[in-house]
Amino acid sequence: MAEVTVSQFAEVLKVPVDKLITQLDEAGIKVSGADDVISDEAKMELLTHLRRAHGRQEDTAAPRKITLKRKAQQEIKVASVQGRARTVSVEVRAKKTYLNRTVLEEEQRQRQEEIDRQRQSEDAVRLEAEREEAERRDADRLERERLEQEANQKAEEEARVLAAEESARQNETRDRERAERERTEAKHHESEPARAPHAPKARVTEKTDAGKGPATKYGRKELHVAGDASARFKKRQQAGRHRRTVHVSMDTRHGFELPTAPVKREVQIPETITVGELANRMAVKANEVIKTMMKMGVMATINQPIDQDTAQLVVEEFGHTVIRLKENALEDQLLADADDATALPRAPVVTIMGHVDHGKTSLLDHIRRAKVAAGEAGGITQHIGAYQVETAKGQITFIDTPGHAAFTSMRARGAHVTDIVVLVVAADDGVMPQTIEAIEHARAANVPIVVAVNKIDKPEADLERVRNDLGKQNVIPEDWGGDTMFVPVSARTGAGIDQLLESILLQAEVLDLKAPTEGLAAGVVLESSIEKGRGPVATVLVKRGTLKAGDPVIAGQEFGRVRALFDATGKQVQSAGPSMPVAVLGLSDAPNAGDDLLVVDSERKAREVALYRQGKYRDVRLAGATKKVEDVFSQMGEESSGVVAVIVKADVQGSAEALRDALGKLSTDEVSVKVISSGVGGITESDVTLANASKARIIGFNVRADSAARSAMKDGGVDVRYYSVIYEAIDDVKLAMTGLLKPEIKEQIVGLATVREVFRSSKFGTVAGCLVSEGFIKRGNPVRVLRDNVVIHQGELDSLRRFKDDAGEVRAGTECGIGVRNYNDIRVGDQIECFSRVEIARSM
Ligand code: GDP
Ligand code: MG
Repeated sequence: MAEVTVSQFAEVLKVPVDKLITQLDEAGIKVSGADDVISDEAKMELLTHLRRAHGRQEDTAAPRKITLKRKAQQEIKVASVQGRARTVSVEVRAKKTYLNRTVLEEEQRQRQEEIDRQRQSEDAVRLEAEREEAERRDADRLERERLEQEANQKAEEEARVLAAEESARQNETRDRERAERERTEAKHHESEPARAPHAPKARVTEKTDAGKGPATKYGRKELHVAGDASARFKKRQQAGRHRRTVHVSMDTRHGFELPTAPVKREVQIPETITVGELANRMAVKANEVIKTMMKMGVMATINQPIDQDTAQLVVEEFGHTVIRLKENALEDQLLADADDATALPRAPVVTIMGHVDHGKTSLLDHIRRAKVAAGEAGGITQHIGAYQVETAKGQITFIDTPGHAAFTSMRARGAHVTDIVVLVVAADDGVMPQTIEAIEHARAANVPIVVAVNKIDKPEADLERVRNDLGKQNVIPEDWGGDTMFVPVSARTGAGIDQLLESILLQAEVLDLKAPTEGLAAGVVLESSIEKGRGPVATVLVKRGTLKAGDPVIAGQEFGRVRALFDATGKQVQSAGPSMPVAVLGLSDAPNAGDDLLVVDSERKAREVALYRQGKYRDVRLAGATKKVEDVFSQMGEESSGVVAVIVKADVQGSAEALRDALGKLSTDEVSVKVISSGVGGITESDVTLANASKARIIGFNVRADSAARSAMKDGGVDVRYYSVIYEAIDDVKLAMTGLLKPEIKEQIVGLATVREVFRSSKFGTVAGCLVSEGFIKRGNPVRVLRDNVVIHQGELDSLRRFKDDAGEVRAGTECGIGVRNYNDIRVGDQIECFSRVEIARSM
């Protein structure tokens, strides 16, 4: 734009020249007249000034409301009566009022303040009223206390007076009687000589009774004592009838003027007592006890056993004194029995520990095969978690299953099962992390170690290296001046196994292991499961006494009568002595590994203790369950932040517990591992649901998911993994904790076949007639035998046949004959799982 004067600019802006000049002046632009030239900068300046001024104005004086009106005119044609159309014009007016929001908010605020003020004043009034009320109450209380105190003082005073009166009266009576006696003695001296000496005796007791009255610790005279005394007085005072009024008044005072306290008793409570029995001991009706317990928030029935602590609270509520009877009267009794019986030498109990793949299982299998006489039922050996071997020099009991975790979890439960640890170290591998762990466990349990240096058949075996490595761990061989026996063995060839057994027996001799064989038996549950057709089965290692069929027993929270006993070879036995492992049938449910099994003298006693324990643990469980829900919710909040939730399912209690304990210990400050559920048996649909709800992964240890669970898994993103080595499960959870676990499969199930028929042939042994239901069964792949979704055997295929021919691979929907190497106990309904190990490198 060219040069513009003020008047020209005013014209452009359509404002009067004077107004523009004033505005320019306000914006700080100096102009002397309408003909002054105005620069571009000046124009911009004016513009910004006007804008600013405008904005400010809006701030300060915004209109409260704006009303908009709209007017619209319409013409409509209307047909008239005469038939002619007429045009009518209609005006439509719409009016809308907009209120300024800030104004509204302001009003609202004012209203709120008003309300607050009102409320505050109301509060003040109420507080004032409360304060007055409290003062009044305080005053009342003080007054009451004062009155009570006065009453007490008065009562004491009276008691004192009474006591004085009483003793005065007694002195009087005594005096009087002495006088009387002297009179009678004088009178009947010869005729009734025996009567006189009795009288003073009676007086003496009466005196002590009555004199004790005011001095009892409750500050009162006991009703029955006083009544008794007065009755006796009455009898003897036929002569002095004037005394009677005094006694009556004494009775009245006792009955009404002195406060009556309930009779206090000393109530003995054993470890567990039923409500009815407790009522009995307190001499009250059971209803009273139940009512009192209800007030304490405990619902109980008359026959319900309650624990000592609860019973104590109830008894104290009734105002009696509690005498707690010694805990574990049962075990004490057992100990007493044990002490009576003479202890005899017993077989050592051995646990095999060592690093993974160093040959623990192979060694146990070899010893079992070579030394355990096969059972009756066609050589089928039942796996019960422990077995006993016979050697020329004596017996040895081997614990079959536990690794380190199970060993420690047993120990944590106070079950000292193992006498000797055999530490397996592979000669080609040397000391590894779990070797050191095993040494630490054995040391912690104060159990001696015998070292089995395994795989000496291998060319790369290096015995010296093993000795050196172990020396560094302070496990010193005997020929180096230490006290640990080293035995080179081969689980493959069997070399050195006899020497190993001998060394174990030698070590046992040093330990001088003894146990009584007489008396009520006691043992430890090694593992337990529920088997189809047999019910709960517990493997029990007898520690002392002799366990017999028919014995009433209690094991943890379970009870029952021993229905049958089986030894490790599956042979039914009638009894089991110290150090002998047996499968026990007849319990109410599967007890926990590590539970004590005790024989008691009656089944009733067993039931009582078990029910009591169940009650006690139910509370614990309930507490745990509520926590579970919280956990689930807290996890939802935390999402993936620092919690790895796990559900554990295992074939036996021992493994489930070992896993639970080991996983629980993995928790660090940043990441915690929560085992939200653990149990025995196949993975069920409800496990999957729980996993889904709580974003947990499922660990199946030697168990598989049933078909319902498998279909539930299909639509949910539940991570289910199967393991047969505890450490692998632990390692995977460790990786999950660090967020490194990639969806990678180490072991892949390639096929599943269901056993339809079982054939026994002389040529092929036991052959299972199967239908392949999923995937394929392939020769050369390892297999597992599943029963009720629990792995009962792992091994290799012996034969795979279709009709009469050998087959390399059999696909789903096809029938085939399967022989499993070294395993004959296949039954109809079992499943054979074919799997392969796929190594996928873990990406970090
Ligand atoms: P575990 O993990 O300690 O129970 O070890 P295993 O018993 O499963 O053995 C691991 C591997 O070592 C298996 O492949 C066995 O065949 C092999 N093995 C075990 N003992 C010996 C042995 O004395 N000599 C040889 N050469 N191999 C063995
Ligand atoms: Mg093994």
